Amino acid sequence: MNVLIVYAHPQPRSLNGALRDFTVQHLEAAGHHVQMSDLYAMQWKAPIDEHDAPQRNASEPFHASLDSKQAFLAGTQSADIAREQEKLRWADTVIFQFPLWWFSMPAIMKGWFDRVYAYGFAYGVGEHSDTHWGDRYGEGAMSGKRAMLVVTTGGWDSHYAPRGINGPIDDVLFPIQHGMLFYPGFDVLPPFVAYRTGSNVDAGRFAKITRELGERLDKLATTAPIAYRRQNYGEYDIPALTLKDEVATGQTGFAAHIV
Ligand code: FAD
Repeated sequence: MNVLIVYAHPQPRSLNGALRDFTVQHLEAAGHHVQMSDLYAMQWKAPIDEHDAPQRNASEPFHASLDSKQAFLAGTQSADIAREQEKLRWADTVIFQFPLWWFSMPAIMKGWFDRVYAYGFAYGVGEHSDTHWGDRYGEGAMSGKRAMLVVTTGGWDSHYAPRGINGPIDDVLFPIQHGMLFYPGFDVLPPFVAYRTGSNVDAGRFAKITRELGERLDKLATTAPIAYRRQNYGEYDIPALTLKDEVATGQTGFAAHIV
């Protein structure tokens, strides 16, 4: 299997750095091919701006979506964006690894999504009509590929439990897993989350974390994805894009979008 790891941590000698090295060794030992996008090491440019479409008409105001679309279609995107898109085409599975920072991914990784997910590549794909609202949420360019988050948190598992103060981890990660991964068509595997890692990860805990991570990596191809409801398969009213009354009746919020 071809595995792309998109990784964001500023310090190679960190817990995340050690988990990343473990992941690469574990996957390669199992015969997988691994490519790495180490965003800090690459000095990835996070902000999307006019430099991402170098051949755009500079007399027109920059428009993030439309300039992205034109550059993607014309093959004139900046080279760093095109390289990452090529890695995505190559990958069967993509692992996104990061420490949870302010309940989300580090800004450098958000900028990877903003820029690499060009219009026409990750969104604005497929028929767009009153019966089919684009190829998205279960369809799209990433169809057939798997994605998994590997996340470390400072908060404890109880802080992210169903009644924990931070909100359930599935809710915290919903905008990433549903909005950024399921949207362009990935099958999204349940996340691997290492909690309470802000300090005091001793050798024993590190061994436990890597053992559990290794078990998840061994099952990358067979783990059942999160059963998000697909947009264009009869469960949503289109174009309102609201769940039909008879689907998940009485349920609201993120959980209603999971079968
Ligand atoms: P490190 O700081 O590198 O290490 C953590 C522990 O692991 C230390 O005990 C260290 O000794 C040990 N360790 C490091 N390397 C190894 C190794 N090779 N082998 C064994 N042990 C090792 N947390 C939340 O829960 N929610 C938030 O919203 C949140 N927001 C944050 C925002 C910011 C800006 C920051 C800086 C932190 C935030 N945190 C939050 C905490 C953060 O998620 C954790 O600090 C982070 O996940 C720990 O991962 P790390 O790789 O940075 O760990």
